[in-house]
Amino acid sequence: MLDKIMGGLFGVAIGDALGGTTEFMTESEISAKYGRLTEISGGGCWSLEPGEITDDTAMTIAVARGILEKPLEPITKIGEEFLAWYGTNPKDVGITIRSVLSQYQGDWEEAAKLVCEQMDGKCAGNGSLMRTLPIALAYADNEKMLDITFRQSMMTHYDEQTAQICQIYNKIASRLLNHEQLYQAIEKEIQGTQFSSVFHNKPIVPADGYVVNTFYWVLYYLVHFKEFSDVAIEAANKGGDSDTIAAIACGLKGIEVGYNALPEHFKTKILVKEELMELGNRLYKLRVSMSS
Ligand SMILES: [Mg+2]
Repeated sequence: MLDKIMGGLFGVAIGDALGGTTEFMTESEISAKYGRLTEISGGGCWSLEPGEITDDTAMTIAVARGILEKPLEPITKIGEEFLAWYGTNPKDVGITIRSVLSQYQGDWEEAAKLVCEQMDGKCAGNGSLMRTLPIALAYADNEKMLDITFRQSMMTHYDEQTAQICQIYNKIASRLLNHEQLYQAIEKEIQGTQFSSVFHNKPIVPADGYVVNTFYWVLYYLVHFKEFSDVAIEAANKGGDSDTIAAIACGLKGIEVGYNALPEHFKTKILVKEELMELGNRLYKLRVSMSS
């Protein structure tokens, strides 16, 4: 279990650090500049250090810290962690999240609702999905996990479908933690939804920050590529919202294969590895203590 929890956290960070190099680029721009990007090398539009992570991992860490501070009712603490991160003036904050964090006045859902109205209802970004994994890692109780997953999403993205996609994602993660195979776990959770087309067809939607499009690409990589490296590299070389799509996909793939099986050359590059180690250990202990 510890190996899987650690694999999930490092999966997110590796996808983020690799895909951060190619964010907002097109496939042809990437191949012209890098050939095929296969190593964590930094650079890109954020001028990243090699192994530097972006908002995807930073907010995942914030969610994990909030849960650890107050496991039975973590939303307020998660919010404090978001604000603390925002206070460090990070270089890459998504549009929806920046709007919510800058207008928050004490009630998350109220701020998220206001921002969604300001955006004419188009607030279904992937910013809550990218940080939702620690909830599945911490809570073995399915009902509790689904409740917190939903509310965590609504803190910044006032959109039910977005919250439901976060729930599907964390249900897949929970199956993996219970030793189910990734392909079968996905099959069970997306049966009868619009996403089931990924088993047969490459998505025709852009690989962008709209959560529905993001999830199509995440699922596509996960059902068609067996190796962790291939999932990360495929997503990174697609460009668009590559860091977030790679982070979301590699979070699940990382749980399936476990930390020990993640490529060494990726793991050692991650600059926040000590922090992820500490959080993984604490989430593991919390999960065990809450389920006994
Ligand atoms: Mg990012």
